[in-house]
Amino acid sequence: MDRLLFGISGLPIGDGSRRFDYASGIEYIKSIGLDAMELLFVRNVNVTDKNKHIILKTKLDNEFYLSAHGSHYINLNADETEKQEQSLERIIKAVEGLSKVEGRSLIFHLGFYLKDSKKDAYNTIKKNLLKLPYKGIDYRLETTGKGTQFGTLEELVSLCQEVESCKLCIDFSHIHARGNGSLKGYDEFTKILEYVLNNLGRVALDDLHIHIGGINYNEKGEKNHLSLLESDFNYIECLKAIKDFNVKGCIILEGPLVEKDALLLKNTYEQI
Ligand SMILES: [Zn+2]
Repeated sequence: MDRLLFGISGLPIGDGSRRFDYASGIEYIKSIGLDAMELLFVRNVNVTDKNKHIILKTKLDNEFYLSAHGSHYINLNADETEKQEQSLERIIKAVEGLSKVEGRSLIFHLGFYLKDSKKDAYNTIKKNLLKLPYKGIDYRLETTGKGTQFGTLEELVSLCQEVESCKLCIDFSHIHARGNGSLKGYDEFTKILEYVLNNLGRVALDDLHIHIGGINYNEKGEKNHLSLLESDFNYIECLKAIKDFNVKGCIILEGPLVEKDALLLKNTYEQI
């Protein structure tokens, strides 16, 4: 990527006077100065043969970036092999939906440790990721917000080294929540980016997928999303670190204010 894009997760809210669909949402988001949207395939793949043409046309007309967030019902470390296979099927279905509209990245959470050791969970998940066919869309492994969920930065960076079709999605707010408020200032953010640079190389920072949002958490990790200004997530220092490392790719805002907070991120980034 030649620059850093800012966008939203799901549909915009606008002024409340109209309901958006993906196509009208893309048009609106572009008109207010944003460039990306993460389609929400969390319950089902809602790009269909019926709406794919209009979404694709609007995306191309607006030079827009599309990613998608995969199902919440994915556990590549499920106890039953059958459930692991169903998880792989959900990932493949999502990739097929996203490819209809020329999306770039499918983001998902890999699953839970359950009773397994971290090492065993890692090996099972790796074995499953290696089964996924590469169809021109990157599998983006997302850092998770709870200690019971597989997906520390270190685990995901290691998987990205071992599985060629996989890239990283850094959800800074999840890392913050998982650590019960661990990302306090500039140094904590630069440490993360330095770790990625040292282990995955410049190429990873030149095309990084990022989630940022206000977040509510306790010692068990993430609870729910908040607006940026309601939360203690230090988005200003986070953006400073991102800028100093000259990160390129896409930042998706997650939270109740949707495009309003995405614009806050973009404007803050441009001013620092
Ligand atoms: Zn996620």
